[in-house]
Amino acid sequence: MIIGVAKEIKNNENRVALTPAGTATLVKAGQRVLFEHSAGIGSGFSDESYIKAGAEIVTDKKELFDKAEMIMKVKEPLAPEYDLFHGGQILFTYLHLAPEPALTKALLAKKVIGIAYETIERNHSLPLLIPMSEVAGRMAVQVGAHWLEKTFSGKGILLGGVPGVESAQVVIIGGGVVGTHAAKMAIGMGARVAIIDKSSERLAYLDDIFGGRVTTIMSNSYNIADWVKQADLLIGAVLLPGAKAPKLVSEEMVKTMEPGSVIVDVAIDQGGSIETIDRATTHSDPTYVKYGVVHYSVANMPGAVARTSTLALTNATIEYALQIASKGWKEALRADSGLAKGLNVFEGKVTFPGVAEAHNLPY
Ligand code: NAD
Repeated sequence: MIIGVAKEIKNNENRVALTPAGTATLVKAGQRVLFEHSAGIGSGFSDESYIKAGAEIVTDKKELFDKAEMIMKVKEPLAPEYDLFHGGQILFTYLHLAPEPALTKALLAKKVIGIAYETIERNHSLPLLIPMSEVAGRMAVQVGAHWLEKTFSGKGILLGGVPGVESAQVVIIGGGVVGTHAAKMAIGMGARVAIIDKSSERLAYLDDIFGGRVTTIMSNSYNIADWVKQADLLIGAVLLPGAKAPKLVSEEMVKTMEPGSVIVDVAIDQGGSIETIDRATTHSDPTYVKYGVVHYSVANMPGAVARTSTLALTNATIEYALQIASKGWKEALRADSGLAKGLNVFEGKVTFPGVAEAHNLPY
């Protein structure tokens, strides 16, 4: 199969869909990889490294799309890319079609076979979302520590304290993938850590793996209010699959936080879980201050650590790309029902219920 790796055109998106190692894996399996000139630069991978791995560099985006049987990307296509697709072409990327009527319409009109990373399932989890949650969870503590510094409007405390000086209190709401990885980092930096979750099984698991290093708390508004008040760094990490994030932290609760405390709401990509966070911020202007509290709500946190994210993403996508390329998409989806869940559009029809519902289209 001819696989085309396109350069991302979204503002500040430095990730790329394949690493040189991933390219080499596909080439070794007999596939042909066309790589758009300089697509890997933002992740620190030169064209030469892709040539060495067996890819052919293509400078003209249109030529890449014309020749490729499968396009691999990171983000959903943007308007200038819609016309580049052709009928029967496979698109393998994060698609997030539900909030994107124009893109959905374009892919249907072009009869693209859209396989979305985010809806592929394995063992009741979403294997191509996990790596980005791992990145965002770990990053939440890193950015939180940064914004707690006095120069950045924070209260001027070190997460781990020092001998003789108390460490910071980190409170994480949602103990899933993001929350667990945030906890790992916060513990590693010497902070005091509390995790609030609504699932008693999850709290038991977290208690098992972290032992006495975290305090686990059942989620209810009384407990949340109590712990928000004590938080130097509050991390929002809840998820209700397929739904908007619940607003668990009210404006009144935020007012009880000490000035210079920091909120990092990772759940902002699902609407956010904190009442005082009503909009996503960007990497170029990531925070604002409300009631003296620093609010950080960047919706694409992994984009800031593009190299790590690109490596983690390829680690997760490569086995699926290999299956699709070597077996053909139909056979690959027939052989793996979890991969089949990734099919969102095909032959001008929506094939994923959530997307059909969002656009009032038949399914
Ligand atoms: P997950 O499903 O692994 O974990 C979610 C956790 O939230 C679960 O443990 C669940 O029990 C808990 N939860 C649900 N309702 C709750 C409530 N009322 N009180 C307390 N806990 C509750 O999800 P995840 O992979 O950790 O993702 C968390 C969020 O982070 C999602 O919204 C995801 O889209 C987002 N995310 C954002 C970025 C970014 O760049 N901003 C990157 C990756 C993931």
